[in-house]
Amino acid sequence: MKSEDSRQKSEVRPKKALGQHFLIDQNIARKIVEQLSPDVETVVEVGAGMGVLTQYMVQDILDKFYVIEIDHESVDYLKVHYPTLGDHLIEGDFLKADLNQYGQKNMAIIGNFPYNISSQIIFQVLKHKDLVVEVVGMVQKEMAERMAAKEGSKTYGILSVLMQAWYDIDYRFTVNENVFNPPPKVKSAVIKMRRNAVTDLGCDEKLFVTIVKQAFNQRRKTLRNSLRSLLSPEIIENEVFNKRPEQLSVKEFIDLTNLISSAASRGEQ
Ligand code: SAH
Repeated sequence: MKSEDSRQKSEVRPKKALGQHFLIDQNIARKIVEQLSPDVETVVEVGAGMGVLTQYMVQDILDKFYVIEIDHESVDYLKVHYPTLGDHLIEGDFLKADLNQYGQKNMAIIGNFPYNISSQIIFQVLKHKDLVVEVVGMVQKEMAERMAAKEGSKTYGILSVLMQAWYDIDYRFTVNENVFNPPPKVKSAVIKMRRNAVTDLGCDEKLFVTIVKQAFNQRRKTLRNSLRSLLSPEIIENEVFNKRPEQLSVKEFIDLTNLISSAASRGEQ
């Protein structure tokens, strides 16, 4: 009885605002960690909570393993249970972290991500795309599907195009609600992202992002209508603008960006 009491005391009470849904299934935890590729040089875990994933990484790869956790109570728990982490356990906000201080190349990001900030985590990765070769992450199932979606699919959108421009996205497996405490309202999925070979999109990358966002923000409209503000009279009748954004592959969005920017620069001359 006494030992049970002290065990309960040493557990972290889940906080909703921090997206805390602790994984309680050891097999799934192990399976997530097993997705990491052998060639990664540094691993950064986002939000370790009570360390269910941490426990499988902490021994093997300590010298190149870091944990960033925002919750003070979780950090205290991790300090007690994984003392060897030492200064590799960082109390802080992953979204504000400068990842370059943890490694120079071939970094992997892993975590059972807080779902309220999953897309921000993914965009933080994109910001460090020259450093981060791999992401192994648990996200909402619906978000995993959006990330992995190909053109022609209903779930294909901004996230799919912007991520697939730089990463190959692989939907690994679905995870049910009941393996979390507390159970989330939605199903989850583990994705693995691997950096592709692209170092340069071959177009104005800022304009590419603008075009993708503007087109999908009015996804039912033809590109002629949604992108009208960017189109010069010279190209507006081009057939590609009869299409809708979900019909365009990443490569076609790049071509479209070049078509629009070359017409715009001719217009300026
Ligand atoms: N990995 C643990 C916990 C997952 S819950 C498990 O699988 O059980 C998500 C974790 O992310 C929580 O511990 C939460 O405190 C942490 N977290 C939330 N926002 C964060 C942020 N901005 N930066 C770092 N960690 C964050």
